[in-house]
Amino acid sequence: MAHPLEALLALQEKDRKILKLQREIRDIPTRKAEVESQLDRAKAQLAIAHDAQMKVESDLKQLEIEVESHREKIVRYKQQQMDAQNNEQYRALLHEVAAEEKSISELEDREIELMEQLEGSKKAITERDAEMKEEDEGICEEQEMLAERLEEVHEDLERVIAARERLVSNVESASLIKKYERLFANKGDFAVVRVENDHCKGCNMRVPPQVVNDALNPAKLVICNYCGRMLVNL
Ligand SMILES: [Zn+2]
Repeated sequence: MAHPLEALLALQEKDRKILKLQREIRDIPTRKAEVESQLDRAKAQLAIAHDAQMKVESDLKQLEIEVESHREKIVRYKQQQMDAQNNEQYRALLHEVAAEEKSISELEDREIELMEQLEGSKKAITERDAEMKEEDEGICEEQEMLAERLEEVHEDLERVIAARERLVSNVESASLIKKYERLFANKGDFAVVRVENDHCKGCNMRVPPQVVNDALNPAKLVICNYCGRMLVNL
């Protein structure tokens, strides 16, 4: 007579596979979302770099406008110089021109700084862009892979569930299956375990000789005193 738990061991093997596949199905959307948020972060960084560049460009334009207005003033002062009535007036205008030129020179220094900044940020954007493209491609590939894997896992799951259904008829009684299923759901890993070297393989505790012996007996349903799993000594 075959031990009735032998059929349960086979069933349990399928149930463990089912659990593993279900877990994978649950995890795939999380992995997809992680990959997507990684891309979103890269996009946000690129947008920040673009904004920074636009700010520098607009500052530069503003500087040019300012320089232009100082230049216009110089032209005006020089015209007034030619119409100057006396030396005092002439010198005052000279001062004005000098002050304007000084302002222009300061603005031009700032302009050079900004242009250097602009060059740097343009270079950074080009690099980021290239990185993003590469990352984008990698992510597309990964998404495809995950979608394919999801399909595979669903197919596997269907197959394993069908195989499990076929095994159910081998189990001696419906009440034994119910008991097993409750225990399996409760433990989350094993409901039926072997006795090996007088130890329960579920919790690794040493079981009494009587239990080791009973676990050999197909007529007896033996439960580990420590972890509550069904014991079989095959
Ligand atoms: Zn145990």
